[in-house]
Amino acid sequence: MNESFSKLRVNSERMMAAFEQLAAIGSTGDGGLNRPTFSEAHLAARKWFRAEVENAGFEFRTDGAGNHSAFLFCGDKNAPTLLFGSHLDSVPNGGRFDGALGVMAAFEVLRTINESGINLKVNLEAIDFTDEEGTHLSLFGSSAVAGHLRDEDMQKPYSGRENFLQALARAGLTEEGLFSAHRKKKSLAGYLELHIEQGKRLERAEINIGIVSAIVGYGSYRLSFIGRADHAGSTSMADRLDSGQGAASFILSAREAVMRDFPNCVANVGKIDFAPGASNIVPARADLLLEFRSPDADQLARLDNVLMQLANEKAEQFGLKLLSEPLGKHLPNLMSADIQQTFQKSCANLGLSSVILASGAIHDAQSLVDVCPIGMIFVPSVDGASHAPREFTQWEDCLNGANVLLQTVLRLVS
Ligand SMILES: [Zn+2]
Repeated sequence: MNESFSKLRVNSERMMAAFEQLAAIGSTGDGGLNRPTFSEAHLAARKWFRAEVENAGFEFRTDGAGNHSAFLFCGDKNAPTLLFGSHLDSVPNGGRFDGALGVMAAFEVLRTINESGINLKVNLEAIDFTDEEGTHLSLFGSSAVAGHLRDEDMQKPYSGRENFLQALARAGLTEEGLFSAHRKKKSLAGYLELHIEQGKRLERAEINIGIVSAIVGYGSYRLSFIGRADHAGSTSMADRLDSGQGAASFILSAREAVMRDFPNCVANVGKIDFAPGASNIVPARADLLLEFRSPDADQLARLDNVLMQLANEKAEQFGLKLLSEPLGKHLPNLMSADIQQTFQKSCANLGLSSVILASGAIHDAQSLVDVCPIGMIFVPSVDGASHAPREFTQWEDCLNGANVLLQTVLRLVS
C-alpha cells in the first residue's frame, strides 16, 4: 500500500455531526431510537440519508428492495464494486449505534477517499440495507441483493402479510420489484461491515477492535418429554412420571455441558409448555424449544449430538418418552481469511489492539457469503448493551472502527 494512503483518516467532526443528526430521527428521548422498517421515522431517516448523499455530490442509488447507497466511481466504470455499510432500521425502542454506526462510517469512508483523489481498482458503494432487524423479513435488503429472497417468505412476513404490503407501498416499493435487487456475483468485489459488538468481550478484554471470523450457525428443536398425568396430591413423589422434572433437569444439564465442554457456544431453552397445565396435575407432557449456536460447523454437529444424548438420558432417568422435532439448522458463515488478515494489518498500522472472534448475532454480511468475500469488524459496546436505549459506544471507538474500515478498503483495492 502507498505510504500516503496509510496516513489517511476519516473526518471525526463531520462523521459525528452526521451520526447525531441521524440519531435524532426517531429518538425516544432517553438515548434510544424507535425506527422499525418503513415506520415514519425510518422513512424520514432514509430521506435524510439520501439528501446527505446528494448534497455531498455522490450518486445516490436505490434498488427494488429499497436499499439506499452512495456510489463513487474510482476508475473503470465496468470495474466491480466494493460494498460496505450496514442498516438504518432499528428494533422497537432500540439503540442509536446498531446499524447506524456502520452506515455513517461507510459514508464517511467514501467521502474521505473521494477527497483524497485516490484512484482504486474498484468502484465504492456505501449502503444502507433495508430491514436488517426483521420488522418484516430479517436481512431483507441484503438477501434481495444476494438473490436469496423466497416467495414463501414474503407470504409469511413477521409483520403479517397485510402490514408488509402496506409498508412496501409506503416506501414506494412493489413485491414484484424486490427481486430486481439481485446482483451478479462478478459485480461485487467484496462486502465489509463495521458494527457494534452487542456483547461484553471487547470491553472486558480492553481490546479496540473485534475481527469477526464467522457468524455462528445454529440448530433448533422442539423437544417433548412425555410422562403421565396423575393426581398431584395423592401420588407419591417416587411414583410419578413427571415430564416437568425431566425437562427442568435437561435444561440445567445442558447449561453445565455447554459451559464445561463448549466454551464458545451457547444453548437456550426459550419456551416451555406443560400439559395438561394445572397446579394439581402432574404434567404429562413438557414441550420445550431449544436453540444452540456455534461458530464452527463440526462443533455445531458435536453439540447437537451431546444435547440430544442428554435429552435422551434425562427422559430415561425420569421414566419419560422423548420426541424430538428438528425446527431449523443454519451452518456458520465464514468471513474471508484474506479480509481478516487485512483488518489485522490495518489495526496494527493504526496502533489498535484486535482480536479474532465470532459473532453470536446475525448480520447483513452473512447474506453475501456466497456472492463475494465478506469481512466484518466490531467495536466495543459499553456493558454489552444492545437493542435497548442504554446501548452505547464511546466516540473514540466509533472513530477507530471507521479508520480501520477506511484503511482496510484502501489495502484491499489500491
Ligand atoms: Zn445491526
